Amino acid sequence: MRLVFLGTGGSIPAPNRNVSATALQLASEILLFDCGEGTQRQFMMSSASFMKVQKIFVTHFHADHFLGIPGMIQSMNFVGRDKPLEVFGPSGMIDIMRNLLRIGYFSPGFDVHVHEVIAGETVKFPDYSVEAVEVDHNVPALGYVLRGENRPGRFNLDAARELGVPEGPMFRALQQGKSVRVGKKTVTPDMVLGETRPGLKIAFSGDTRPCERLIEAARGADALVHEATADSSLKARADEFGHSTAVGAATVAVRARVAALYLNHISSRYEDSSVLESEAREIFPRAKVVEDLMAVTIRMRE
Ligand SMILES: [Zn+2]
Ligand SMILES: [Zn+2]
Repeated sequence: MRLVFLGTGGSIPAPNRNVSATALQLASEILLFDCGEGTQRQFMMSSASFMKVQKIFVTHFHADHFLGIPGMIQSMNFVGRDKPLEVFGPSGMIDIMRNLLRIGYFSPGFDVHVHEVIAGETVKFPDYSVEAVEVDHNVPALGYVLRGENRPGRFNLDAARELGVPEGPMFRALQQGKSVRVGKKTVTPDMVLGETRPGLKIAFSGDTRPCERLIEAARGADALVHEATADSSLKARADEFGHSTAVGAATVAVRARVAALYLNHISSRYEDSSVLESEAREIFPRAKVVEDLMAVTIRMRE
């Protein structure tokens, strides 16, 4: 699983940072979290394809988080998409999408299914779920927490050998949770597997002040993508506009005990964002300010 940071700037585009969009590349699809203006072009410059996007999760209706949707849908149509697209967002998403899809002479040749999610709701998919978390911005806004399916426990090779299980297909069956017959006895998965391990967990803050509900929901995540609009000298202003400083984001990461912190939504005032990273690292040493088109592989914790 890879996160591709397509747009890492806050509020307005800057020469080196486009507005918000983060792609999560799974085995067979891409989930897109926010889709600011120009996201389709960011895709073209990245290693990810916008045609693989099957779901878009919009955090809130400030323009820098959703205005890229109509252009991307038009391009998807232009290159012959026929698979449906799912769009999720806060209350009002259905109306906004209806209006966006009425622009000009355009109507897509594929289905666009729009879903409004409420805070606290968890949307379930076959391999993962996505929880919507009410965050603390100056307009209604959601963060999202993705959780992958639980993984089977670690395979205990010694135990399997002691039980006389031959290596090969029987190992695989046990790993997949199926019992096998070895001679006259049955070996069940619990005899050779450790405790079930949690699946991937990634949290996306969207725009928010540091927020207790997000800390709760992000607890123990493999990665937290958190906005860090400003440095600590601008804390009062960040607070006034419903944003976080890098220090605020790092504090959230520490309290939620996440494994990795990626800082985005960087204000266009920073040509050099190293001040944000160094302030965050004093609190959460592995904090990273992400740049447009940067991609990182998310490793699940053992
Ligand atoms: Zn924003
Ligand atoms: Zn906003």
